Amino acid sequence: MNTREMNIQEVKKCDSTYIMPTFGRELLLTRGEGSYVWDCEGNKYLDLVAGIAVCNTGHCHPTIVQAIQMQTETLMHCSNLYYIPHRAIFAEKLVNISGMAKVFFTNSGTEATEAAIKLARVRTKKHAFIACENGFHGRGSAALACTHEPKIREPFGPLQPSCTFVPYGDAHAIKEAIASDTAAVILEPVQGQAGVIIPPASYLSDVRDICDEAGVLLIVDEVQTGMGRTGAWFAYQHAGILPDIITLAKGLGSGFPIGAILAREGLQFERGEHGSTFAGGPVACAAGCATIDVLQDVITAIPRKAALFSELLQEHNPRVYGLMIGISVGEHCADIASYCTTHGVLVNCAAHGNLRLLPPLTISDEEIREGCQVIQAAFSSLS
Ligand SMILES: *Cc1c(COP(=O)(O)O)cnc(C)c1O
Repeated sequence: MNTREMNIQEVKKCDSTYIMPTFGRELLLTRGEGSYVWDCEGNKYLDLVAGIAVCNTGHCHPTIVQAIQMQTETLMHCSNLYYIPHRAIFAEKLVNISGMAKVFFTNSGTEATEAAIKLARVRTKKHAFIACENGFHGRGSAALACTHEPKIREPFGPLQPSCTFVPYGDAHAIKEAIASDTAAVILEPVQGQAGVIIPPASYLSDVRDICDEAGVLLIVDEVQTGMGRTGAWFAYQHAGILPDIITLAKGLGSGFPIGAILAREGLQFERGEHGSTFAGGPVACAAGCATIDVLQDVITAIPRKAALFSELLQEHNPRVYGLMIGISVGEHCADIASYCTTHGVLVNCAAHGNLRLLPPLTISDEEIREGCQVIQAAFSSLS
């Protein structure tokens, strides 16, 4: 049956009958273009969530669509047993924009975390990790072991590797937690799922120094902050440091699923140490190459767009880091989100009552004004 032949009630019923209920959903979306998506009734929404920081190039950017279409018609899959041009070219582009040396492709952020943890364990021959309170690194078992939220992690224990959690933004706490069996520290440069939590400006460089001193690897999770989101290709670049490993996914393929880890010179998997059937496939890598080409011209305008969000939302004390915007709302977050949806703007409630905005990086100033006006009205509707 074609989805167009099902009405919204039928789709909802079919969905809830056959799909495990891990997510709650409301809207039935059928189309996206630029900063907007449309539902099945033709209603138009300004998308300030962008598929959770995935659609950095906006919805269905023509350059991305063309790259995917051309590759799909040419060679859709061939495994990692063979060379393909786009995989090599995409890796070269990633190395050039990151200052790292080697790439291993995955299919998601979780798989990137799993790969980073494996790489740290196999090269250091140590098995313990340090991660941050309220941090999020994905839902595979190793990724989950390093994800703090007890609600997400504890039902699945005992998990490996052993992970010590320290307060986010406190470099000294990391120093204190390092032990002789510590393989690596893993952290987000800005915490996303926690609600856009920005650490002190010197945090990353302090942690880099501490890791160097202790001979411990630094894994920076750029799954959400990467691919231009913060106004640099990667958020660690604002701190002027080089991590040992970074993890990427979300915006990497503009919506086509792909993830990766990038490692610095001298750190890599050897033959047979890791693998994946789908990862680094032709279509994903074509989407990735096109994504970098499109974002190249978009990144420079991000500080200006971020400043506009700051200005327009200033009475709500927004935390703004590039185009990651968080506002502490508390128990009324769902009400704000629901008001915004009703008035044609999609926003997200992250953890702990934090309203989170992750707009397409291609959003225009006019669209930012339109979105902030509705958010403003949503706050007014509360009082
Ligand atoms: C989303 C996210 C992940 C997990 O990525 P998936 O593709 O959902 O597995 C990991 N780390 C961070 C920081 C994320 O935001």
